Amino acid sequence: MRHETGPQSADPIAESSRELRIHALHVGDLIDWPTPALIHMRRFAEVRDIPLIMFVITGGAHPIVVDTGGASPGEVADLHGYTFRQTEQQHPDVALMARHIDPLDVRLVVNTHLHWDHCSNNHLFPNARIVVQESEVAYALNPEQPHRKPYEQLGHREPGWLSGRDRFEIVRGDVEIAPGISVIHLPGHSPGSQGVLVSTPSKRFLIAGDCIGSYENWDGDDDVDHLPSGTFTSLPDYMTSFRRIEEIDCTVIPSHDLAVVQEGVFR
Ligand SMILES: [Zn+2]
Repeated sequence: MRHETGPQSADPIAESSRELRIHALHVGDLIDWPTPALIHMRRFAEVRDIPLIMFVITGGAHPIVVDTGGASPGEVADLHGYTFRQTEQQHPDVALMARHIDPLDVRLVVNTHLHWDHCSNNHLFPNARIVVQESEVAYALNPEQPHRKPYEQLGHREPGWLSGRDRFEIVRGDVEIAPGISVIHLPGHSPGSQGVLVSTPSKRFLIAGDCIGSYENWDGDDDVDHLPSGTFTSLPDYMTSFRRIEEIDCTVIPSHDLAVVQEGVFR
């Protein structure tokens, strides 16, 4: 059954001209983030503010959300010790409303992985199934000690990502989740990291998750074709994922690059 979004959706021409597009919603910034945490073994003395981004794919039967951002600045400070800045306009509810997206209309959320800054607002989408890789859930339940904090395995409270577990749609590998939209398993940053490949009328985009945090990661430098994140569980898997992306022939959209939110819409 077609989902009614308003008077215009009854227009058969509007219906047939639907085109997928990707909206990058800026939902806050981590302040003074050490650059080597974003770009492995580079620019040791540098810090930068990095955006958290919630992506919304529109043009299909229902909006699809990819990653849901972090908790409130107070919770982020308490749980992680980071300075997280979020203006009123960057609150996920407000940012969605500004794009005329009703969270209750969202039937599918993809978490590229289960680090806190990508999945802490899954509760805003109570009608959505949440697509995650099986290997990501397994690792998030029992991460190696240095990785406990990003999965909020802190011992004194339930990790935030577990609140949505009853709506998890567990997948293994590459899966088409809607016409023109597939998840692609890209391990390395974490075992179950996945990207979302979206075919628009003009090209194929890859919402890359933290496999590619910034354009600098993808562009590499004189020594390395592509630079990994400062955090990873397997460097060999990571490099294989980079080769995989090269073969897919797509335009990458990084997860923490200010240029992405400045671009705003990808079509
Ligand atoms: Zn991550």
